[in-house]
Amino acid sequence: MARPKILVVGAGFAGVGCVRRLERTLGRDEADICLVTPFSYQLYLPLLPQVASGILSPQSIALSLRRSKKYRTRIIPGGAIGVDTKAKVCVVRTITDEIVNESYDHIVLAPGSITRTFDIPGLVEHARGMKTLAEAAYLRDHVIAQLDLADASHDEAERASRLQFVVVGGGYAGTETAACLQQLTTAALHRYPRLDPRLIKWHLIDIAPQLMPELGEKLGQSAQKILTDRGVEISLGVSIAKAAAQEVTFTDGRVVPTRTLIWTAGVVASPLIATLGAETVRGRLAVTPEMTLPGADGVYALGDAAAVPDLAKGEEGAVCPPTAQHAMRQGVKAADNVIAAIRHQPLQPYRHKDLGLVVDLGGRDAVSKPFGIELRGMLAQAVARGYHWSALRTNVAKTRVMTNWLLHAVANADFVRTGFQSRKPATLVDFEFTDAYLSPEELQEQVASGKPGS
Ligand SMILES: Cc1cc2nc3c(=O)[nH]c(=O)nc-3n(C[C@H](O)[C@H](O)[C@H](O)COP(=O)(O)OP(=O)(O)OC[C@H]3O[C@@H](n4cnc5c(N)ncnc54)[C@H](O)[C@@H]3O)c2cc1C
Repeated sequence: MARPKILVVGAGFAGVGCVRRLERTLGRDEADICLVTPFSYQLYLPLLPQVASGILSPQSIALSLRRSKKYRTRIIPGGAIGVDTKAKVCVVRTITDEIVNESYDHIVLAPGSITRTFDIPGLVEHARGMKTLAEAAYLRDHVIAQLDLADASHDEAERASRLQFVVVGGGYAGTETAACLQQLTTAALHRYPRLDPRLIKWHLIDIAPQLMPELGEKLGQSAQKILTDRGVEISLGVSIAKAAAQEVTFTDGRVVPTRTLIWTAGVVASPLIATLGAETVRGRLAVTPEMTLPGADGVYALGDAAAVPDLAKGEEGAVCPPTAQHAMRQGVKAADNVIAAIRHQPLQPYRHKDLGLVVDLGGRDAVSKPFGIELRGMLAQAVARGYHWSALRTNVAKTRVMTNWLLHAVANADFVRTGFQSRKPATLVDFEFTDAYLSPEELQEQVASGKPGS
């Protein structure tokens, strides 16, 4: 009998957690494992703001997929652009733009999320996200370019607009991004003696009344105070009304001259999920506590892309928040359930109590809430960095990150602009490939007539 084929889509926290568990637990003759991924690395997203600010090199948080003792997965380099759960086919666009049909017996959907946008004039054209390695590298270059151009300019208005920066989103991604990049521009000042420090201004805005509400009121206020003391202007209850190339208008009527709009106001499930035509909960695929899709054979979904019931919370209708700690653990549990299905054993529900949150605000500043204990300052920073460091999957990545941290602590940053992407389009669509997916009609046509994968 042919071995069943397990197709995992997405090499993030959930997908890689699943694949590694499958490799370790399944015998070679029990199943074939394939992984569809556009990149050959797993991105350690929580440290992305530190790449943007130059504390870490991009390579240090891009963990090789092929570095594993039990490695035996067939990697399909490309992105899934549609899934037909009746035909049990996943349509893949390879990195050479070839479109192939990958059949499967079991599919594990872990394509994560993309930046959530709203119908705000100019937003998708002018905002930059913080979800991919390319976006972080682009932002770093872009911010340094603003310093270089302001330094070279004799036009006061231009200097002022290049030295103002707007971050929308007071969750941990936006707050860490604003904090780390503000430190970058402050640290850069001694290399740009012509720049007036008073002109450099960071705005962090959020429509919510509080920064990072998941931290609780006191710790959220501590984070707010740290940033305000550093000169970051925080505006709560405010969003943006429109964006243009050289200015942003806030909903309270203020017009801020700026060339930098960083948009981190939440995430939404990958557009791949919509191609299934199944029930969703705020865009995330509605799955059972076992992470299976009701009414579809052999379909599992998890991580940011799926609304996995949060059994540990014990509230009716609660779903797990989109965090790395859930995604990683769901990956392992989903693998166990795929194995159980292959071995005709009962599936187990996912249950995990949240361990808390760590927020690195750069330098010695941090706030953390491990197991409900509120920490600030150096201790919080030690917990934040210790947690991330131990969660990195490979020893090589651990060594790279630690070396980068030590190097940055003793030698500070270099403000080098690589220029790799300076002439390329830089919209959210370009970076996050949100227009790559098939419509229901295109999917049917492709499944019926498409070329099978190997
Ligand atoms: C800046 C930032 C900071 C964060 N900080 C924290 C934190 O401190 N703590 C925490 O718990 N969480 C944090 N998060 C959230 C956390 O990173 C996510 O919840 C987590 O990555 C979700 O895991 P995932 O596997 O579902 O998705 P991801 O890790 O995003 O992985 C999805 C993978 O699928 C790939 N993919 C996408 N589309 C396709 C497709 N169509 N076909 C094939 N592959 C595809 C992507 O390239 C990616 O490799 C942070 C997120 C950001 C952006």
